[in-house]
Amino acid sequence: MSLYEISSKKIIVPQNLAKIPVRAEYDLIVAGGGVAGISAAIAAGREGVKTLLIERNGFLGGTATAAAMAIFGAPYSHAHGIYREICDRLIEAGGGSLAKTCVVFDPEVFKWVVLEMLNEAGVTVMPYTVVVDAILDENQTVRGLVICNKQGQEAILSKVTIDCTGDADVAYYSGAQYQKGREKDEKMRPLTLIFRIGNVDFEKLKAYTDKHPEKFSNQPDKNLFDLENNAIRLFGFFEELEKARSKGEITGDIHYLRFEGGNVKAKTLFLNTTRVYHKDGTNAEHLFQSDVEARKQIDELLAFLRKYVPGCEDCVLLDTANNLGVRETRRIIGEFIFDEEHVASKTLFSDRIAINYQYGLVGAPMHSPDGGEGSMKDSRERGGVKAFLHGYSLPYRILIPKGINSLLVAGRCLSVTHLGDHWTRPMPTCMITGQAAGVAAALAIKTSLQPRDLKISDLQEALRSQKINLGEFK
Ligand SMILES: Cc1cc2nc3c(=O)[nH]c(=O)nc-3n(C[C@H](O)[C@H](O)[C@H](O)COP(=O)(O)OP(=O)(O)OC[C@H]3O[C@@H](n4cnc5c(N)ncnc54)[C@H](O)[C@@H]3O)c2cc1C
Repeated sequence: MSLYEISSKKIIVPQNLAKIPVRAEYDLIVAGGGVAGISAAIAAGREGVKTLLIERNGFLGGTATAAAMAIFGAPYSHAHGIYREICDRLIEAGGGSLAKTCVVFDPEVFKWVVLEMLNEAGVTVMPYTVVVDAILDENQTVRGLVICNKQGQEAILSKVTIDCTGDADVAYYSGAQYQKGREKDEKMRPLTLIFRIGNVDFEKLKAYTDKHPEKFSNQPDKNLFDLENNAIRLFGFFEELEKARSKGEITGDIHYLRFEGGNVKAKTLFLNTTRVYHKDGTNAEHLFQSDVEARKQIDELLAFLRKYVPGCEDCVLLDTANNLGVRETRRIIGEFIFDEEHVASKTLFSDRIAINYQYGLVGAPMHSPDGGEGSMKDSRERGGVKAFLHGYSLPYRILIPKGINSLLVAGRCLSVTHLGDHWTRPMPTCMITGQAAGVAAALAIKTSLQPRDLKISDLQEALRSQKINLGEFK
């Protein structure tokens, strides 16, 4: 025990506490065990570097499991690399269903499948541990991380670190430049607490959806109700929501239902429907306020489901996700900033780390921070404009934070614009950028080069041998 010097302005840390014990040394630390971090760690482990994956939760998956977001938003037909392998392993384990536009999976199966894959790649996993600081030397080189768990604060040293925290925590602790939210006003996309209902009468709901196609989105990626295949992604009940809103039965900014994943045999459905606006997912107070607001919305939505949705009359609330789903917070400023414009122009970057495919609409913002998603003014969700499959290339430079050495970033917090993130934040792309970061980190470690100094042709060769598609657009 140590005595602190305490004043209302600052706490002076006693000398013996200022010495943080070094617990271990790794070639590579991956911070954050979401889909990006898992892929980065597997990729690096397979390249033979000693890799540690640190995760604050007691299980892996991040948004895919902790936020219960059970859909990979890109088609298997165009899947490659570790993304494709994870799909195959999920299907083999009975926890994955292929649809034309996406892959629906069981988050519980995902948790186990990825642990097996990490184990096979020789990665050490350290769950229940939060990264609280980055260790930088005088050359702005990240030399390791300070972690905190039940054993207190410890340091872990590394040659390279990959930030896959979603919120760019490591880059932020390193003093890297970043931006938050929309460029003009820093507003961020809404937060969502996904919830799961049970005792759904699927036959009745299916009969209704077949009889009333006008009540549901006409977009190929949002109108999927394949009960035999256990593949569900259905957006609709727009009019019913407006009716309930006019009666004061729904008080939140909610204008449609989104059924996304579930288990037909177990009569369960996940709903990605709550929306909490004007909050910052890196602010603990905001997170708690969002949680409270989302729970109020769920209470109202349960009454709505029982009253207005055929087949859900007797539904019960099974659970809510462990963590709020956070769509947008910090994005690093990297050596290059990727934008939606690069998707529209099909820019074929010479330093590309992948050719990627994603359903979407250029020029039609999604999950606007202004609210009103799914309302009459939202032509995207109301089906006025048609989504289709876009192919685009991703440059290596968006993984490299400006001015910081020995650090790479992957997943949601890449160097992209607010609109560009529509094309990088879906889970399949996060897995691809994670894998690319893992391979790049391994190459940098083996050649003793800074990640930004790697020879691009060497990196691309290593990525090709890990089955990443780098060729021309399909
Ligand atoms: C509600 C919602 C719906 C979505 N719908 C879809 C969809 O239908 N299809 C699709 O493909 N994508 C969807 N997305 C987007 C996609 O799920 C995410 O962008 C993606 O999963 C992000 O992956 P990630 O690995 O970059 O980050 P995360 O999933 O956020 O993972 C980050 C991990 O790091 C851990 N972590 C964070 N900070 C620390 C720290 N300081 N120390 C230790 N660990 C830390 C977290 O616990 C987490 O496990 C959705 C997102 C949300 C929020």
